[in-house]
Amino acid sequence: MNLLFIVIIIPCILAQNWLPYEKKVIYRAPASSMHRPSRDTSTILKTLTANGSIFHDIVVDRSYRGTRSIDDSNAELSSLIKAESKELARRQKFKHGDNPLSIDLWHHHDLGEVKNFIDSVATRNPELAQKFTIGKSSEGRKIAGLKLSKGNEAQKKSIVVMAGAHAREWVTVTAAMGLVLKLLKDKSLIKMFDIYVIPVLNPDGYVYSWETDRLWRKTRSNRNNKLCPGRGVDVNRNFGYNWDSACELCYDEYPGRTPFSEPESINLATFLARLNQSSSISAFFDVHSYGNELLLPGGDCKHKSKLDKVNREASQAFISATTSTFKAGSVCDIVPYTVHGASIDYVQQVLKVPIVMSPELGSYTHGFMPKPEEIYTSVTDFVHGFMAVAKFAFQHNI
Ligand SMILES: [Zn+2]
Repeated sequence: MNLLFIVIIIPCILAQNWLPYEKKVIYRAPASSMHRPSRDTSTILKTLTANGSIFHDIVVDRSYRGTRSIDDSNAELSSLIKAESKELARRQKFKHGDNPLSIDLWHHHDLGEVKNFIDSVATRNPELAQKFTIGKSSEGRKIAGLKLSKGNEAQKKSIVVMAGAHAREWVTVTAAMGLVLKLLKDKSLIKMFDIYVIPVLNPDGYVYSWETDRLWRKTRSNRNNKLCPGRGVDVNRNFGYNWDSACELCYDEYPGRTPFSEPESINLATFLARLNQSSSISAFFDVHSYGNELLLPGGDCKHKSKLDKVNREASQAFISATTSTFKAGSVCDIVPYTVHGASIDYVQQVLKVPIVMSPELGSYTHGFMPKPEEIYTSVTDFVHGFMAVAKFAFQHNI
């Protein structure tokens, strides 16, 4: 039961606010319990699930003695979300035609701003930057990116950075934009590599997290499903390596009907495979938040291959360059649950890309809702870590 609880139930619990319901309270477990289960919340959920029910929303009596910690966490989440929306009103919005060098890296940016930024970078720097799309999302939005490159050396290799797979992890999108800014200012890295940056892999979920549900994680597919319409798929459980169907449709880590059932994952995999044939990929970053961790392949300890020496050394280069202290290791050694169908496992095991990592940007303090100075720290951590890895890859001809 314990194992079942940790492996299946906890990762699948949704993160939301509480709703009063006569003498009961409907709780949805807070994001922290979904991503990093706290002991108090686990105890309550364990008691509830032991009674024979599987909970999506958790209905408990107000008199239930153990509800305090869930209630507190929800109140805390609500106040963080309110504080964040006040702060967002103060941001310098990136408008169509604005100079990309003026991008505000202390605040998050919505999908319209990201599009404006991509357009401005490509229009103002035609000799360095080109726009590209890897295809469309399930709701028909373009999944766009920027290729940054200087010079035409025949043997030039590539690095790919992808962010925004999980909709609510807004800081990852700002980090990707911050990297583009750095590459435009300091051109040394784009002389070494062709660098591809995709700031929002999951545009449908990203829009939904801005407009409807701040803590939304998945895509927005399954529109016509009667049980959970529009409940979507966790794109970072939908890749075709060590995929597993254990999680149910309505849960936050639902992996899809089949591996690569989602346009977001298959479009990325197709793009990476084609690129790897024409210009071999040295490194791949799938950027997430939060936890200040550097996750390396090995989502399932049963299938964990010995960490490749090159990848381990590259991860050390990353964590030596950050201001915040990052913990690096295989996914299964760091997160308290098993991960199947993740992008980094697929990219390493199937595409054989030598350097593959998922930085989890930001601390636990404000979780998915970091304050401006925390956003900026995460952006600079990622940019410095990325640069260290790219230089390492170039020096070692990886
Ligand atoms: Zn994530």
